[in-house]
Amino acid sequence: MSPRRTKDWTPDQAAALYGIRNWGGGNFDLNEHGEVTIKVAFDDREVAVSVMEIIAGLEQRGHVMPLLLRIENLLDSRIALINESFRRAIREADYQGEYRGVFPVKVNQQSQVIEEIVRFGSSYNLGLEAGSKAELVLALAALPENGQLILNGYKDREFIDLGLWATKLGQRCFFVIESPTELPLLLERSQALGVKPLIGVRIKISARVGGLWTETSGDRSSFGLSTPQLLQVVDVLKKQQRLDCLQLLHCHLGSQIPDIEQIRTAVLEASRFYAGLVADGAPLGYIDFGGGLAVDYTGTQSNHVHSRNYSLADYCASIVEVVKSTLDPLEIPHPHIVTESGRATVAHTSLLLFNVLHAMHFEALNLPETLPAQCHELLMTLAALREEFDTTPLNQIYSQALSCRDTIRDRFRSGQISMRERSMAENMFLAIAQQVARNLEKLDDIPPGLEELQLSLADIYYGNFSVFQSLPDTWAIDQLFPVMPVHRHCEAPVREAIIADLTCDCDGKLDNFILADRESRTLPVHPLKEGEDYLLGVFLMGAYQETMGDLHNLLGDTHVASVRINQDGSFDVMKEITGDSIGDVLSYVEYQPQALFETFRQKAEAAVRSGRISVPERQRFMEDIHATVRGYTYFEK
Ligand SMILES: *Cc1c(COP(=O)(O)O)cnc(C)c1O
Repeated sequence: MSPRRTKDWTPDQAAALYGIRNWGGGNFDLNEHGEVTIKVAFDDREVAVSVMEIIAGLEQRGHVMPLLLRIENLLDSRIALINESFRRAIREADYQGEYRGVFPVKVNQQSQVIEEIVRFGSSYNLGLEAGSKAELVLALAALPENGQLILNGYKDREFIDLGLWATKLGQRCFFVIESPTELPLLLERSQALGVKPLIGVRIKISARVGGLWTETSGDRSSFGLSTPQLLQVVDVLKKQQRLDCLQLLHCHLGSQIPDIEQIRTAVLEASRFYAGLVADGAPLGYIDFGGGLAVDYTGTQSNHVHSRNYSLADYCASIVEVVKSTLDPLEIPHPHIVTESGRATVAHTSLLLFNVLHAMHFEALNLPETLPAQCHELLMTLAALREEFDTTPLNQIYSQALSCRDTIRDRFRSGQISMRERSMAENMFLAIAQQVARNLEKLDDIPPGLEELQLSLADIYYGNFSVFQSLPDTWAIDQLFPVMPVHRHCEAPVREAIIADLTCDCDGKLDNFILADRESRTLPVHPLKEGEDYLLGVFLMGAYQETMGDLHNLLGDTHVASVRINQDGSFDVMKEITGDSIGDVLSYVEYQPQALFETFRQKAEAAVRSGRISVPERQRFMEDIHATVRGYTYFEK
C-alpha cells in the first residue's frame, strides 16, 4: 500500500514515486518548479529544459494538444551511445572486426526520423534495414553513397531488382535469404542485370528467448532457414560458383529480449553457424544479430518483459566476447558485427503529450444526513452499516454493503424501489466504499475481498488522445510506457486515476502504470483545476507506435513537433507536421470533402426553401461545416 501522500510534497518525492530517474535513463528529470525536464549533455555542460516551456513555445506557434514531441538530441545521443558502446567493447576485447549497425526502418519510418538517423548516423556509417519494397524505396532515397543496406523480408522480382539497382548505384546492399525459394530468383536477376550481389542467410536459432516476442525464435518461427535449408542454399551457391557472394549470416531473436543469458546463448549458436559456414568454404565477413536490444521501460533493470537485466555495455561486451571466444580457437578471422537495434535507438526520442478534459469521481453526491421516514428497509440496512466501522471488520462491512446495493438494484428492476431510492442507495454505497478505502490505508495488509476496491474507486481521467492512434501497443500487446503528469510536482498527487481516451471503446484506456517500486493499476494524479490545463506525458514511445496506429473513431494523426535543444538552454523547433484534419481522415475512408460540401449545400438550400433556416443562417452553417472539416480530429478548446 502506498504511503499517504501529504500536503508537503517536493519534486524529489514525486521523482521517487514515478521512477522518472530510473526509466528516464538520465534523459528526463524534474526541476524545482515541479516540471518534467529533458536533459541533454553537451561537451562541457548538461542542459535541462522544461517540457512546459517547450509546450508554451509550441502553443505560441499555434499547436494544440494532443501533440507528439520529438527531441532530436535524444535520438542523436542514443545513436552515439550504441555505436560508442560497441566501439569500446571491440577495443577492450581486442576484436579485429568493426561494428556496422543498421536502423530497421519498420520501427519508425517517419521521414523526419529517418532523415535525422541518416544525418547524425553518417559519422558512424549507420545503415538502414528494409523489410519490404516500400521500405527499400525510402531507404534507398535516404542513404548516402556506399551506405549499408540490409534487405530482409520476402522478396519478389521487383524487390530484388530494386536492390540490384541499389547495388549498381553504389550501395552496400545485402540480400538476406529468408527462404530457399528466394535464391534462384536472386541469382537469375543478378545475372540478367549483371550485378554480383552480396548475399546473407537468415538462420533459425533454436535457443528460445523470453519476452513478448518469443515466437520470433525457435523451430516454428516463420522466419529464416532451418539447418537443412541453410545447407541447401550453400549447395546451390556452390553449384553455381557463387559461394563467394555469401557474405553475411543473419539472425533475429525477437524484440525486447529481457535476459542477457538468452542473448549470449543465441549469439553462441549463431557464431557456431558462422564457423560452420566458413569451414564449408563460404567467405562471409559479417555477422548480424538483428534486433532485440531492450529498453528499460520500467527502470527496474530486471528480466521483466518490459525491462532488461543488462546494460548497453553488457550487451555489446557479451556479443563481442562470445563471437571472439567461439571463433578464436578455430582461427577464423573476426567478422564485422551488425545489429539492427530499432527500439533502443528511437524509443527515447518521442513523447506523447495530452491534456485531461474531465475527471469522473466515484464519490457520493449530496448524501443526506438522515434518511427520509418511510424509506425502504434495505436503505436502512445500508445506512446502519455506516455506524459499524468500529465493531466490524472492513471486508465484512464492504461485502454486506455490496450485497445490499445489488439487492436494491434487483428490486429497482422489478419496480419495488423508486429511482430516488436507488439514487440514495448508490450514494450511500459509495460513501461506505470510500470510508472502507480510507481505513484500508491505515492497514499493512489488505484483507481478502478488498484487493480490487481501490481500483474500483479510482477516478477516470479523460485524456485528449486515442490509444489506438498513438499507443497501439498498449492495447494490442499490453506494452507498458511510463506515464506521468509533466507539471505540478510541487503538489502531492492525492488522487488515483486510470486514463480513458476519446474513443468510444472500453479498450481505449491506460490502466497499468509504472511507478518506481511497482506496477500499479492506477496512476497518482493531481486534482484538476478549473481553467487550467492538466498535462500528461507518455514517455519512451518513439518505437513502433506511429505507423501501427489506426483510425479508430476516425481520430487521426496528432500534430508532431521536432525540437532541438541548444547549449544555452534554448530550443529550436526544427520540424512541424500538422495532424490530420477531419477532411483528411474522411478521405482515408473514401469520402470526398468536396462532395460532402455539395451535399451539405443542397441540404441547406432545401432548408432555406422550406423556411426552416434563413439565408444568413445557411451561410453561417456552411462556414461552420467548412471550419469543422478543416479542423483537428481531437477535442479543441
Ligand atoms: C523488427 C526487427 C528488428 C528491430 O528489432 P528491435 O527489437 O526493435 O531492435 C530488427 N531486425 C529485424 C529483422 C526485425 O524484424
